Amino acid sequence: MDGLSAGDSIGAQADGLSPRTIGVIGGTFDPIHVGHLIVAEHVRDRLGLTTMLFVPARVNPLKAGDAPTPAVDRLRMLQLALQDHPGFQIDLVDLERVGPSYTVDMIATLRERLGADVDIIFVLGADSLMDLPRWHQPERLFRETRLALVPRPGFTPDLDALEEALPGLRGALLDVAAPHIEVSATDLRRRVAGGRSIRYMVPEPVRRYIEANGLYTDRAL
Ligand code: ATP
Repeated sequence: MDGLSAGDSIGAQADGLSPRTIGVIGGTFDPIHVGHLIVAEHVRDRLGLTTMLFVPARVNPLKAGDAPTPAVDRLRMLQLALQDHPGFQIDLVDLERVGPSYTVDMIATLRERLGADVDIIFVLGADSLMDLPRWHQPERLFRETRLALVPRPGFTPDLDALEEALPGLRGALLDVAAPHIEVSATDLRRRVAGGRSIRYMVPEPVRRYIEANGLYTDRAL
């Protein structure tokens, strides 16, 4: 994190991970971009995980007024972005659910399917960590999974305040010393709407898909 050195004030240990530990990164992926890919690969590599599951959300309960791009397009872009990496997989658990897309419910469903002996490490950007007190049942999330905290330029979480709001949170956070990648889907959508380049900010097949399907061109942003 900005202003936070590795091991400074973050609690969970990465050693002793079970070989059956998997990483999970959830998001709207509207669109998937190099920020997601670089931090997901960093966490996978750093923690020695075989698999990182990308779980596209149907809707984001915290972005209620903001309809995401249809799931079919977001999914196709994920497939194009992940196709060359055997360790990156897509899981449709959230797209197939009914009701609000709460991360805690998505993780519970995944856990039921994968079995109790599989540990889950959930990748969380610093921006999402700052939002965590507004999430549905955040305590359940960090009691049941460890959270790999990755930095997000421009977001500096106040860990003391977060720990006060959510006691026990600090002990669930893994500092994986991920690189700072200043790309956001919001900025990419704005760039496309403004006719600007997104080359190298998304994988090339994703850029071509966006262009060929006219995504994000008519967004009021
Ligand atoms: P938007 O700009 O539409 O809010 P986003 O770029 O934040 O989108 P999401 O799909 O909402 O992308 O993000 C999914 C997860 O990936 C979140 O935990 C978020 O914090 C994390 N994330 C997204 N972009 C980055 C980045 N550049 N660096 C680190 N983490 C990121």
